[in-house]
Amino acid sequence: MTNNPQEPGRKGLLIVLSGPAGVGKGTVCSHLRRISPDLVYSVSATTRAPRQGEQEGINYFFKSREQFQAMIDNDELLEWAQYVGNFYGTPRSFVEDMIASGRDVILEIEVQGALQVKNKYPQGVFVFLMPPSLDELKMRITGRGTETEDVIEKRMNVAIEELRMMRHYHYVVTNDEVESACERIRSIIAAEHCKRERL
Ligand code: 5GP
Repeated sequence: MTNNPQEPGRKGLLIVLSGPAGVGKGTVCSHLRRISPDLVYSVSATTRAPRQGEQEGINYFFKSREQFQAMIDNDELLEWAQYVGNFYGTPRSFVEDMIASGRDVILEIEVQGALQVKNKYPQGVFVFLMPPSLDELKMRITGRGTETEDVIEKRMNVAIEELRMMRHYHYVVTNDEVESACERIRSIIAAEHCKRERL
């Protein structure tokens, strides 16, 4: 069966889940992790300081600016972007190794990075997560309670710009309710495997 990661010769899918910050990508990914344990999650590198409870190697690999720049210079990142004053990037070799070994890998990244991946890896599956409304998005960005007014305003402006990029994606999923958004993403992944079996 094609959806079986143990199948010999199977090539994994690269799934990019993107959308504005605050749309709930993290929550959707955590739920997907529970219901789809075969999916592999890429852990990003960032120069942002850890939030309370975040752990090195689990939430992010926390780097200094110099360390991050060295990763860029050594071509260790599949994509990277600057977002509200910090750098974020996807370590390349982990993703490539997992896909080559037949595993489906999911990247949870912002829009500039997703567009870079689309240029380098157009066979990926690009999913844009939409907020149910702009008011709801603002509530989610504010409600996290970890950011200053200034950062909230910057994040909101970036989010509005990001919404304009949805046309570059293969699929748009509205995050009205986490469980049903995850079910739709699972259906997309299953359908993509069926599509590729034909090729
Ligand atoms: P946060 O600081 O809230 O954890 O993340 C800020 C934004 O950066 C979110 O939209 C998140 O999806 C995005 N992000 C996290 N990791 C990466 C990455 O490796 N590359 C890119 N381009 N964006 C990322």
